[in-house]
Amino acid sequence: MARTPLDRIRNIGITAHIDAGKTTTTERILYYTGKSHRIGEVHDGNTTTDYMEQERERGITITSAAVTAVWNDVRINVIDTPGHIDFNIEVNRSLRVLDGAIFIIEGVAGVQPQSETNWRLADRYNVPRIIFINKLDRTGADFYRAAATLTEKLGINWIALQLPIGIEDTLKGIVDLVTMKALIWEGDDLGAQYHEEEIPDDLKEKAAEYRQILLDNALSVDNAAMEEYFDKGDVSVETLKRCIKRGTIDGSFRPVFCGSAFKNKGVQPLLDGVVDYLPSPIDIPGIRVALEEGEEEGQNPDRRVIPANEDSPFAGLAFKIINDKYGNLTFVRVYAGVLKTGDMVMNTTKGHKERVGRMFQMHADKREEIKEVSAGDIAAFVGLKDTGTGDTLADQSDPVVLERMAFPVPVIDIS
Ligand code: GDP
Repeated sequence: MARTPLDRIRNIGITAHIDAGKTTTTERILYYTGKSHRIGEVHDGNTTTDYMEQERERGITITSAAVTAVWNDVRINVIDTPGHIDFNIEVNRSLRVLDGAIFIIEGVAGVQPQSETNWRLADRYNVPRIIFINKLDRTGADFYRAAATLTEKLGINWIALQLPIGIEDTLKGIVDLVTMKALIWEGDDLGAQYHEEEIPDDLKEKAAEYRQILLDNALSVDNAAMEEYFDKGDVSVETLKRCIKRGTIDGSFRPVFCGSAFKNKGVQPLLDGVVDYLPSPIDIPGIRVALEEGEEEGQNPDRRVIPANEDSPFAGLAFKIINDKYGNLTFVRVYAGVLKTGDMVMNTTKGHKERVGRMFQMHADKREEIKEVSAGDIAAFVGLKDTGTGDTLADQSDPVVLERMAFPVPVIDIS
């Protein structure tokens, strides 16, 4: 396996209120990234995720702790962030290892209580997010009303990158506000593709209005964009994209996408959005080392940060452990350095050495054995004897302990 350059890695999570479409959207992402061969609707009970569920019950294969997919030459690791409120601690733990997230709300109800909880959690960890308004094909769906709940319930500065063309059963496509092109889907079934067209007349004014907001926001965060605007009276698509990404990372605004995962509408542009607007491991600050004994959060502003870098000593965090018939699979997020099969590594949390047996990258329906992992990667290790969730694995030459999720989150009653 060739090493993937850091700027071509996205470690993302997908979070949603139960039933908003996390499974379906994940499914479609795997479908479009070409890694899934078992496609079906959720209610048919034969989706890849269901398939993995059955496999898990039989105890013979992988879990969806992290699935690797490739889109436009970018490796997208989708890390499972359990959606249900009872899994709050789990959500917490996985949020620490992802660099960005797709936040799904649905087109009828908009932001729901559990979405709020997950949003606040993601805020706490400064996780850059893009928002997907799903289920716009459903009766009663309303993009504008659903988007308004982002302001009402979350109080955020969101910014539409797309507007739907037609809704409910007639959802035909979207207006891409960055390029100012209409993307119209052909076919309703799996594999629906889009082609570009002129923006329909009835949406022209609205699209111009929304693009202006997009432009104003971009100019407010980026001086170079401002200069370009003064020179030319507009900014290029590349500049606009760069500014949106910047706003996404610093949290000043949250890009909004739309469609229906169920009907495969909007998923391809959403994947483009992951690549264009969510950060790679080098776009964001590295992981910090753990607090010293007795040190309070915020007490030491110079606490060491380990930046994403392949040339540094190895450092990674075990974030999930699964048992299957091969033994323990320890899922590790690598922050720095390179580690090869058979290498010794320190478990710096517990203070002992471990030998790395085999390593795997998980795909939707197969596991691929790999010989090394490097900064930015996520992989499952086999053969670790005593490494628990949240433990740091590091090179003996620089035995750092990484910051880990430590505090429980109060469980909020949503009944
Ligand atoms: P999760 O609980 O967030 O994982 O949601 P699922 O992906 O399991 O979806 C919940 C239900 O909504 C399932 O019956 C899906 O078939 C359905 N669903 C998901 N996405 C869409 C969509 O875009 N449109 C419609 N009409 N139904 C959808």
